[in-house]
Amino acid sequence: MDITYPLARVFTDKTNNLNVFFDESPTSNQFIQLKDIGKCVVEFCELDFSECLEELKKLDTKSVSSDFEDIKNKLWNIVDLLKDKHPYVQFFLNSQMVLTFYGSDKSKEEQIDFIIHMFHYYANLQNTYRTALEVCLSEEVLNEYTLPERFLIFGNNFPTFNHYMLRTRYGIAPMSYGEFDKSRVIRYSDPEEVDMKNVLANIHRDGQTPINMASYFVIQTLEEMLYLEFMEMLKRGIRIKRCALCDKYFVLADKRKRGYCDRIYKNSRTCKQIGAKLKFNKSVEEDIYLQQFQTIYNRMYSRYYRIDAWDSDRETNKLSAREFRHWSDIASNLRLAYKESHITGEQMIEALFKSTEYEKE
Ligand SMILES: [Zn+2]
Repeated sequence: MDITYPLARVFTDKTNNLNVFFDESPTSNQFIQLKDIGKCVVEFCELDFSECLEELKKLDTKSVSSDFEDIKNKLWNIVDLLKDKHPYVQFFLNSQMVLTFYGSDKSKEEQIDFIIHMFHYYANLQNTYRTALEVCLSEEVLNEYTLPERFLIFGNNFPTFNHYMLRTRYGIAPMSYGEFDKSRVIRYSDPEEVDMKNVLANIHRDGQTPINMASYFVIQTLEEMLYLEFMEMLKRGIRIKRCALCDKYFVLADKRKRGYCDRIYKNSRTCKQIGAKLKFNKSVEEDIYLQQFQTIYNRMYSRYYRIDAWDSDRETNKLSAREFRHWSDIASNLRLAYKESHITGEQMIEALFKSTEYEKE
C-alpha cells in the first residue's frame, strides 16, 4: 500500500514511552517522546470539541464549487483551534485534511463533506474510548474479571473495534537493550546536510551501546494512533483510576499507590498537591460511601454490558444505551458532589438508589 506524507513513525520499547517522529514531509520532522502510555488517550476523551463543532455549524456549504478556497481556509482555522490542546490530535486531523485536499480523487463537495464528517466522527469516538478505558482498564469496575475477559466484554459491545490493522516498517533506530535512546536521535533540518553514513558510523563506534534495526508503526490517522496507544496500555496492563478530588480518570503510570491526578485543580495547584494536604482521603479503598456507590454502579454496569452473559446468547435484563448514559450521568454528578462535599455520603447513596429504581421501569 502506498504511504504518503504526513505520517508518524512510532517506536515502542520496554519503557512506558512512545517515541514518535511526526513527519510533515520527507525532509521535515519533529521528534517527541510521549511519556506515560495511555495519558494521551485519557486526554483525548476529555478534549473539548464543542468550539470546533460550533464553527462547523456556521460553515455555509451551499455552493462549495465557488466558495471552495474560502471553506477550506475556514476548515484549516477550525483544526487550528485544537492546537496545543493535545499532544497529537491536531497533527493527525491536519494530516487528514492534507491527504483529503491534496491526495484524493474526491470531488470538491465530497472533500468538504468528508472533513466535516471527520470532526463529528472523532467527537463520537470519544464515547467509544471512554467506554474502552472504563470497561478494560478502570481499577474500580469489573474487578472480578481478568484483563483479557474485560477486553472480550468490550469487544462484544463494540464488535468493529478490533478490526484495525496497523502497518509496520523496519528502520535504523538508537535502540539498545530494549530501550529507545532519545539523546541519540539525529536531528537535521535538511537531510542533504547530513553525511548519514559517517554520523551513524561515529555514533556506533563512540556510543556505549550500538544503533540497531527496529520495527516501528506507520501511523496516518488519529484513529490508528489512539488504537495503538490503547492496545499498548492493554499489553502492559496499565490501569486507570478516578481522581479522588476532581473525579476525572488518570493513568496509573507505575505500581505506586495514587489517589490524585496531576491536573490543575485550583489556583495553579494540582489535585495531587491539594490532595496531599486533605484530612480525609476520599478514595474508594477508605471510604464506605464510595464503596457502596461502586457496588451499585458495578451492578448497573453489568446490566448494561450484559456482563453476566457475555459468553452466551442468553437474554438479560439489559438497559438501553440511552437509559444507561442518562443514569451514569446522574451517578457521576452525585459522586462529584460528594467529593466536593456539597452533599453527605448518606445523601449520595440515597439519591443513587432512587435513580436505579427509576431505571427499572
Ligand atoms: Zn484530579
